[in-house]
Amino acid sequence: RAIVRDIDMLEEKNPSIKPKPTPEVDPTVFEKRFLKKIRELGEGHFGKVELCLYDPRGDRTGEQVAVKSLKPENREEQSTNLAREIDILKALYHENIVKYKGICQEEGGQAIKLIMEYVSLGSLKDYLPRHKKDTSLSTLLSYSTQICKGMDYLGSQNYIHRDLAARNVLVENERTVKIGDFGLTKSIKDNEGYYTVKDENDSPVFWYAPECLTHCKFYLASDVWSFGVTMYELITYCDSSKSPMTLFLSMIGRSHGQMTVIRLVKVLTEGRRLPRPEGCPEPVYELMRKCWEQLPERRITFKRLIEELTNMQQ
Ligand code: ADP
Ligand code: MG
Repeated sequence: RAIVRDIDMLEEKNPSIKPKPTPEVDPTVFEKRFLKKIRELGEGHFGKVELCLYDPRGDRTGEQVAVKSLKPENREEQSTNLAREIDILKALYHENIVKYKGICQEEGGQAIKLIMEYVSLGSLKDYLPRHKKDTSLSTLLSYSTQICKGMDYLGSQNYIHRDLAARNVLVENERTVKIGDFGLTKSIKDNEGYYTVKDENDSPVFWYAPECLTHCKFYLASDVWSFGVTMYELITYCDSSKSPMTLFLSMIGRSHGQMTVIRLVKVLTEGRRLPRPEGCPEPVYELMRKCWEQLPERRITFKRLIEELTNMQQ
């Protein structure tokens, strides 16, 4: 006791002998100089994703991470979107959602990068066409269930995804998929209008529910519609000759340019939908159709989808 008191007194008289707290190491801050690019993983509308080795010891023992940054031409206009994507992903914890690892900030702090876990088999859109043989219908239904579980969790956190598609679902291993792109995700609270369609070739409009196309309104039920389109992609093994874009364009006729969205709304309002893919059992197609009810309030929910999909796999 006396000794402790003596030390306390000594410290008061002479603050420099007080042990300094070790500097806080924030494991979510990645230093740019230790981040070594291995290869490109993919590109989307605004950003690109690279596989990097984070190797602070400099002896190649580091870990592989996926690093998302904005393409230089989008830096200015999209930086708040990437910052928002980071904030959203940071707060999400679910086995079917890609894991946030941290950020990397450049000197000055203008260009920020998102560091996430590396999901090694790439997106379903890359994976499925190359693994048709080893992917059974029941595996596709299991992937669908997992996507619904991730989406149900996202909805429970009051987020709408707005860009659910096979290109944004990542394959961790033969059994497990994760939702992997939250760039367009919005909190239900901030209800601003959004999104003009620049290039119809790679446009998400073919994944959009009618209310999104006509009023730029997004509900949880709008994500359900997109899930139906995503499920359609899964069942066709993401065959590009049967892709939603290819089929909708053949329904409405190509080369309408600016008119594409208007024509798309017209065929949807007439009740036309993507066809039942070859080899798709009727009950599975029925489930997709329940996602494509014209009125959002009549669509099936993610919870019901999970139940029905689970029953089908038994
Ligand atoms: P964007 O917002 O620009 O569409 P995405 O997040 O969808 O960017 O990433 C683009 C592509 O990069 C994906 O389609 C996928 O192929 C690849 N990718 C993205 N994140 C990862 C990851 N964590 N692990 C492996 N590949 C990824
Ligand atoms: Mg994407």
